[in-house]
Amino acid sequence: KLFSELQDLKGNIRVYCRIRPFLPGQTEKLSTIENISENGQLVIANPSKPGKDGQRSFKFNKVFGPDATQGEVFADIQPFVKSVVDGYNVCIFAYGQTGSGKTYTMTGPTGATEEEWGVNYLALNHLFKVSQDRKSNMVYEVAVQMVEIYNEQVRDLLSSDGSPKRVGITTISQPNRLAVPEACMHPVISTSDVLDLMDIGFKNRAVSATALNARSSRSHSIVTVHVRGKNVKTGTVLYGNLHLIDLAGSERVDRSEVTGHRLREAQHINKSLSSLGDVIFALAKKSPHVPYRNSKLTQVLQSALGGQAKTIMLVQLNPDATSFSESMSTLKFAERVS
Ligand code: ADP
Ligand code: MG
Repeated sequence: KLFSELQDLKGNIRVYCRIRPFLPGQTEKLSTIENISENGQLVIANPSKPGKDGQRSFKFNKVFGPDATQGEVFADIQPFVKSVVDGYNVCIFAYGQTGSGKTYTMTGPTGATEEEWGVNYLALNHLFKVSQDRKSNMVYEVAVQMVEIYNEQVRDLLSSDGSPKRVGITTISQPNRLAVPEACMHPVISTSDVLDLMDIGFKNRAVSATALNARSSRSHSIVTVHVRGKNVKTGTVLYGNLHLIDLAGSERVDRSEVTGHRLREAQHINKSLSSLGDVIFALAKKSPHVPYRNSKLTQVLQSALGGQAKTIMLVQLNPDATSFSESMSTLKFAERVS
């Protein structure tokens, strides 16, 4: 069944759009969302241009409205996660401006209840469930790495001494070769192990945040789950990877307003997000040349993108009228890669 589900996909890329709700306490609730259809169509309206002229329609694999639960979003991701134990590489990205719900979708809110758990936890939970199936001949080992990319530098968020250490990228792309071999690899056997590790990782991200002001929204965080399965009857070994990526905020920064390190950050984010778009676009078009080399983000993910790999792009929107132009540029990015 799973195989046919995966065969059904037109390409290896799925694009889902998720619109976060208005936040409690928010009084102005002027929305840009005109209509959401079951078939994945989204109509967005320019608040300063009433009528049909200000409307634009986009088509994705699916659109999740503000009422969608974490469980509903995960239900559409689950078959891809399952395919990791069959030896596939899967990347799940959250893309959108700061405040659009990327971290909510991937991690969940701070102090999340089980119903509020994000994709990261639900995916690992599901992987453990599948891999501990006693009826199969497979024995699985699961291990996790977590890094952030900030200003085109890769740092280990789970280093053994607790301080985020700079790590290098292996440039030779080979199956099962680690992209960031120096980043600590932590074996995990339960969801609570994973919760503990991610807590440490996110705290390490937060440490730098005080020094550099909300840095977490200006860095990409990548949780990589390595699954090694061995068939105890035949001795065959297979490897699958799951990459869970909370991207830096995609908002455009007004060049006239920022200088120095803030401008440099913005340029690095721009460059890495547009490189990611270029890579996915080239893969979707089956272009012979895929420009992986243009950013650290695409270099780290090189072996996980392309080939038999599956990519899910979760495109996040803030429905607020004041976010209209950011929402438009987010949707245009998503349209290009879908
Ligand atoms: P980002 O990571 O894109 O900057 P966040 O995930 O931090 O955005 O979300 C911004 C705010 O909106 C947070 O307070 C978060 O809890 C809330 N939020 C985002 N998505 C949802 C959702 N689907 N349901 C409820 N609250 C949400
Ligand atoms: Mg965030």
